[in-house]
Amino acid sequence: MTEPTTAPVPAPSPPPSAAADGTPFSDLPLSPAALENLQRLGYQRMTPIQAASLPLALAGHDLIAQAKTGSGKTAAFALPLLAKLDARRFAVQALVLCPTRELAEQVTQEIRRLARAEDNVKVLTLCGGATMRPQIASLAHGAHIVVGTPGRLVDHLARETLPLDALNTLVLDEADRMLDMGFADEIAYVIERCPRERQTLLFSATYPPGVTKLAQRFMRNPRQVTLAERHAATKIRQRFYEVENGQRLQAVGRLLEHYRPVSTLAFCNTRQRCSELATLLQAQGIVALELHGELEQRERDQVLVQFANRSCSVLVATDVAARGLDIAGLEAVINVDVTPDVEVHTHRVGRTGRADEAGWAFSLASRNEMERVARIERMQDTECEWHSLDELTPSADPQPLRPPMVTLQILGGRKDKIRPGDVLGALTKDLGFRADQIGKINVSEFSTCVAVARDSARDALRGLNEGKVKGKTVKVRRM
Ligand code: ADP
Ligand code: MG
Repeated sequence: MTEPTTAPVPAPSPPPSAAADGTPFSDLPLSPAALENLQRLGYQRMTPIQAASLPLALAGHDLIAQAKTGSGKTAAFALPLLAKLDARRFAVQALVLCPTRELAEQVTQEIRRLARAEDNVKVLTLCGGATMRPQIASLAHGAHIVVGTPGRLVDHLARETLPLDALNTLVLDEADRMLDMGFADEIAYVIERCPRERQTLLFSATYPPGVTKLAQRFMRNPRQVTLAERHAATKIRQRFYEVENGQRLQAVGRLLEHYRPVSTLAFCNTRQRCSELATLLQAQGIVALELHGELEQRERDQVLVQFANRSCSVLVATDVAARGLDIAGLEAVINVDVTPDVEVHTHRVGRTGRADEAGWAFSLASRNEMERVARIERMQDTECEWHSLDELTPSADPQPLRPPMVTLQILGGRKDKIRPGDVLGALTKDLGFRADQIGKINVSEFSTCVAVARDSARDALRGLNEGKVKGKTVKVRRM
């Protein structure tokens, strides 16, 4: 499981969407202390999803709640679980599953703020990427609420370091995203180890069939609240192209030249095919990286950092390697082969077109894969839209597809006490770059990656090599 730490470079936090005329929290059966704390936090009124779900959740119902990002879903599950919590009882009473470490940490922070109404509520985050031992020690010390990612929670449950017999609330946050990331088995494993007598709250931005299945399997007479505002069905546009086997890899380059997506995830059924494709794309001048099971953890992290910070156009991956990765929200997914597993197809396609953005999903199918395509059609209950490779014309832009950013690697990281702000400061304050020319900054143990706009890369590289970061000279190279 890889969970690269992404330094939030001045990311504007989503504006709370509580309408000025929303229902006040005082309408809810909350303790005076909880209400006072909300007041202190500046939560005057409920956001629409809170107004719809809190009365049901506080009444003890299982709940499926669907609303967009930034709509205040955390408080919609945190307040009910806190209302039931007995802080004098030193046992895990609530468990929250989140797709990524970053989200788990955000949720932990928000729960801590909402828990200030009570003394000494202990919230613990359990995610991969950190060593087990301190987590086990913290658990032994006693935690009331655990927030974690599915993979790491499975590790703890398998080692019996996370007792759940006192659990009364289970939350699946961003359920759709967890399923997209391939966590279905881990989620089931965790839920099966929770007491049957419990309240289950499921939150999701979208409501795909996988989430329905999860709810049917593990929830008890759930109430459903949906914020209708948006959620026109998915914005994924799927197109199928019939190819001869010999044309398949060439066809990927043609799709990229025609549609010119900024970030594309290309799925191959085998590692061999991954390597062939990555090599071919690189030969065509396209920045493509491979993600497969035989990379070392460090190499894997570097590939993911470059893809996430938009300095790599195409990530060529096997399904196994892409499992558990938070790489949703892409402009395009290409199924270089049609997978024999319909669910895998759905997962792959679900990586694009998230939230408000439209996304493309292209599939290359040869004659002998038509049976697989037919299965996909049956599952989706729609006919596939076929297109011909002949429609693909290189765009008017004679430049090959180029990623917008370039990654510079600074030899120096957490061990050298470098923080994202130090790098941002060196680039903006010392060297005079604008903040919008700088992208993500990822600090790892021994090195730091910073994405800079392609046309500033050369100057940034020279400036950093000649200048200082945190008062020290550093070695920087272009990745
Ligand atoms: P979601 O999980 O739906 O993406 P969050 O729970 O992260 O949304 O909330 C988004 C932001 O809104 C957070 O900064 C949170 O503190 C704030 N927020 C949530 N509810 C309220 C409220 N009722 N009033 C004001 N701010 C709120
Ligand atoms: Mg959330």
